Amino acid sequence: MKASKSAQEKLLALQALDSSLIQLEHKANNLPVAKILDEKTIAHASARDLCVAAETEKSDIKHELSKSEVDVEQVVSRIERDEKRLASGLGTPKELEQLQHELGSLAKRRAELEEIELEVMVRIEALDQRISSLSQERDALQEEVIKFSREKEAALEEITRAKNTTIGERNALAAEIEPELLAVYEKIRASADGIGAARLHAGQCQGCHLTINAADLSRITSLPDDDVVRCEECRRILVRI
Ligand SMILES: [Zn+2]
Repeated sequence: MKASKSAQEKLLALQALDSSLIQLEHKANNLPVAKILDEKTIAHASARDLCVAAETEKSDIKHELSKSEVDVEQVVSRIERDEKRLASGLGTPKELEQLQHELGSLAKRRAELEEIELEVMVRIEALDQRISSLSQERDALQEEVIKFSREKEAALEEITRAKNTTIGERNALAAEIEPELLAVYEKIRASADGIGAARLHAGQCQGCHLTINAADLSRITSLPDDDVVRCEECRRILVRI
């Protein structure tokens, strides 16, 4: 295959642009900010779930509290009723004695219930603190998620701009290269890690980095300038400069 020296040199310039595009693609897929964003998104979801769980627990305990409040009220109203009856002095001494006994038990029951009520209130207070710190954490993470999303978007936009510029340059350059040579380049590129053409530098193919033996090297360098040479090892187009 024949191609002018300048066409072969253009192919190397095209390769540089295509390699830049590969690097930009790699950069877009491996943004450090994307990794941070993923971590923050997971942390935010976890804080949000914990917050919901704490809210649910609180509402269950509040239900428990209103139940124990009703229990206390019932005991208090029984105490009041018994005290009234006792104050009225109506009834047999035995009945009055029974009333006093019942009042004693009721007072004990009231103290027990009030203690339960207090415990529940302490639990609610602890939950309130937990909910407050969790919701603060959740909101702070939400802000970070928004911030890093914007940073990621901006970084991707910048890469897209750079890619578009490079694509414009590479298409303009490709239009200057003979279609036949370009087709071979594209074919190799598709099967050789995106590198279709490499420079011959210091006796080495810059595509596979293998040193070409002296005999082959002297044969290659003695070929006419417009001969398109392929690396024996990696089959890439070897451009002699
Ligand atoms: Zn090679």
